[in-house]
Amino acid sequence: MKTYFLSPIMPTPNGALHLGHIAGPYLKMDVIRRNVINNNMQAYCYSGVHFTESFVLLQSFIESMTPKEICTKNYKKILRSFENLDIVFDEFVNPADNPEFIKQLHFFSDAVFGNFINNACFLYEEKHPYDATYGFLPPSIICGECPDCGTGMRGFICESCGVSILPENIKNSYPSHVCDTFELKKVQNYFLEMSEGSKKNMYRVTSPSPKEHWGIQHDNIRHINPYCDGFSYFIWLGERCREKYGLSENPFNKESNIDTVISLGFDNKEILDVIKRVFDYGEVYKTFDVILDNHFLLLNGEKFSTSKGHAIWCDTLDEKIDKGFLRLFLLKENADIDANDFNVSKFVSFYNHYMDFFMDYKALNHKEAKSSSALKRQYIESKKKITHHLMPESYNGKKASKIVIDWMDMYLSIEDTYKKQWFESFKELSNPIMPTVLSGDFYKRISNDLILV
Ligand SMILES: [Zn+2]
Repeated sequence: MKTYFLSPIMPTPNGALHLGHIAGPYLKMDVIRRNVINNNMQAYCYSGVHFTESFVLLQSFIESMTPKEICTKNYKKILRSFENLDIVFDEFVNPADNPEFIKQLHFFSDAVFGNFINNACFLYEEKHPYDATYGFLPPSIICGECPDCGTGMRGFICESCGVSILPENIKNSYPSHVCDTFELKKVQNYFLEMSEGSKKNMYRVTSPSPKEHWGIQHDNIRHINPYCDGFSYFIWLGERCREKYGLSENPFNKESNIDTVISLGFDNKEILDVIKRVFDYGEVYKTFDVILDNHFLLLNGEKFSTSKGHAIWCDTLDEKIDKGFLRLFLLKENADIDANDFNVSKFVSFYNHYMDFFMDYKALNHKEAKSSSALKRQYIESKKKITHHLMPESYNGKKASKIVIDWMDMYLSIEDTYKKQWFESFKELSNPIMPTVLSGDFYKRISNDLILV
């Protein structure tokens, strides 16, 4: 049986997830997972919080909590964010809760990573932000501007260019927490040369360990750059799946016939390139078979921003909103090919327009229901197309959502006696995108309360 191991990129546990996060890697994987299973194939979906990220440290400074407490608190918010949008995982883990995690991560890291650092990377003497009291500063507290595009940045990766910048090259840099100023102190770290076209970039593989040892140590003075340890994290997730479901191999093992799929934001693309290089280096593991990336989704024409409060948070989403319709709209307005905009008033009119149909449907008496072979043929054709668009190798969420929307648009032109058949077909077609339409809950929810204002 064709089997997939689906792994959306691990979110950083420094807050809940907003619609922009969900619309990118997570909703897509859930829709694929449901489609694969509906078509009698197997899919396992695994991810967890990316607890070694230095943004966890930043949040711990802001909230005066330990990094571990921050992880666990936000892990719960992230879980709620997924639940509120019916996004299901086989396992979504919080490594901060798992005392064995670091040990096991080292086990997989040591198998490949040491060799990778010694042979594929080079030592480079950089100038790194340093404070006499704190020691080397974590990237998340360094702010400044990108030397290439001028965009404001935090950390060592420019979100606009999607590339890493050496801290000494960040323009007008300053620390946002821990201290008021810093000096740039010489220190040697491991880097990997990455090239895109004629442009060559250095990608950071290790960082000088901060005083607060947070992350996976490489040696006494350096730790593995958080996203590089993603390599061991993925293998660890694969191992959990192997044990839980009795698979003969870890899905990342070269011998495994399970297809591995990753989904992630375009700003993480460079990180993925490094992870792929690490995978390629070892003898044992293979890299991802399918890579799905996305650009940014804007909110009313502006970037989602936690600091400016410009976001729709998924952990506290209004219960009145039917999640199926929100999922459908997000797929329709996706940012898979290029940046796109989630316009709230456009969503409200979309929602209310189609809700009207379902209220009308609820009022119908189906005693006279008949079935039409033309409608059946149309259903079979649509089902074939949706199945194709929601497979990992041929994923196109926009095209799949259009088929579902076209089906809803047919409603008004269909004779009342065939509307029951129409609805049954709609439930099947829309299931991967709108799983709640199948539940009895949906009927209960159809009421005038559902009109959004
Ligand atoms: Zn830039």
